[in-house]
Amino acid sequence: MVVLDGGGDRPVPEFGEKTPLEAAYTPNLDALAGMGINGLLHPIATGIRTGSDTAHLSLFGYDPYEVYTGRGPFEAAGAGVMGKKGDVAFRCNFATVNEEGEITDRRAGRIRSGTDMLASALNGMEYNGIMMTVKEGTEHRAILLLHGDGLSAAVSDVDPHKARTHFLRCEPLDDSPEARRTAEAVNYFVEESWHILRNHEVNLMRERDGLPPANILLPRGGGVFPDIEEFGRKYGLRAAAITGVTLITGIVRLLGMNVIDVEGATGGIDSNFSAKLTAAVSALEKNHFVFVNLKAPDIAGHDGDAALKKEIFERIDAAFTVILGAMAERDDIILAVTSDHSTPVSVMDHSGDPVPLLIAGHGVRPDDVAEFGERAAMNGGLGHMNGRDLMPELLNLSGRAEKFGA
Ligand code: ZN
Ligand code: ZN
Repeated sequence: MVVLDGGGDRPVPEFGEKTPLEAAYTPNLDALAGMGINGLLHPIATGIRTGSDTAHLSLFGYDPYEVYTGRGPFEAAGAGVMGKKGDVAFRCNFATVNEEGEITDRRAGRIRSGTDMLASALNGMEYNGIMMTVKEGTEHRAILLLHGDGLSAAVSDVDPHKARTHFLRCEPLDDSPEARRTAEAVNYFVEESWHILRNHEVNLMRERDGLPPANILLPRGGGVFPDIEEFGRKYGLRAAAITGVTLITGIVRLLGMNVIDVEGATGGIDSNFSAKLTAAVSALEKNHFVFVNLKAPDIAGHDGDAALKKEIFERIDAAFTVILGAMAERDDIILAVTSDHSTPVSVMDHSGDPVPLLIAGHGVRPDDVAEFGERAAMNGGLGHMNGRDLMPELLNLSGRAEKFGA
């Protein structure tokens, strides 16, 4: 399953009302669409504007309304911080505050180095029987995990999401003792982080260099670690995943997939698509299911850059040579190519428009579609499909579906 993140789009005037995917020269994807069966996929359901996290859960056959507990735990898992069911994870920013506690820089000058040392100075604190794990993320980002009994994610953000104001107190959002206990622990943590970080060697050095010190950690977006059935157990498959994005890595880790690191897979527009798809084909030797996320189209969509998005599709298409080659050699590969949502360049954010889906491989009944794109997919044999129906279809085509009835 290859997901072109944010791949769907809307007509673009400069492309004669074609979408970036339609305007791009994509002979490999077109050949696969020609071999296979096509349709429009609604990642969750018609018109739902999905995040990448909720959409991927749906594509893997889970009900995101049931298993999605907020971004915190998925980001935490992506950063390698695995909590237990009931633990609460927060996303945090290293920020700069002045002596009065007023935020002068929400991202501490987009600090790039030393956050590992700052995080380890905060790691392992305890308050009232609650263990605190802190791990640095990319740039100014970090994770705070609270582990212990009687926790709740019903607490407010400490990060006010703007500068020139005092950081906020974490408040319980309901009357439960769990929310009160969690808020107390977060407030203790934030005060301690300020106390410890302001005198940390990394920050003293930053100040000497005229850089804003990363002297506090501001938690936000708390979420409870969910209890999700592992993907492998759910479907009886050994599964691997190749992704360059922390959030998606978190999802596949929480689902128990084997995460494969690929050299040059950055999750950015400069990612090595070819290396990722080559690694995916190799991973089929040891796995029944291999998932690949290519993040670049989403980035171009958020930037509103139609020319870049088109160019990215052309580079991705070239990388599909390796998959076409593998499918010509062996007849036991069922391939699905789709997106987790549309990120139209005209919207510069996710929209609820459905995305093209192609499924190709031995035994697939081909339709008359000969091109991979939004309009072409409308005429495909799969018609309209919801994200959660994709896994059953792939299990059926790969001869793994269980028979219902006699
Ligand atoms: Zn996405
Ligand atoms: Zn996005």
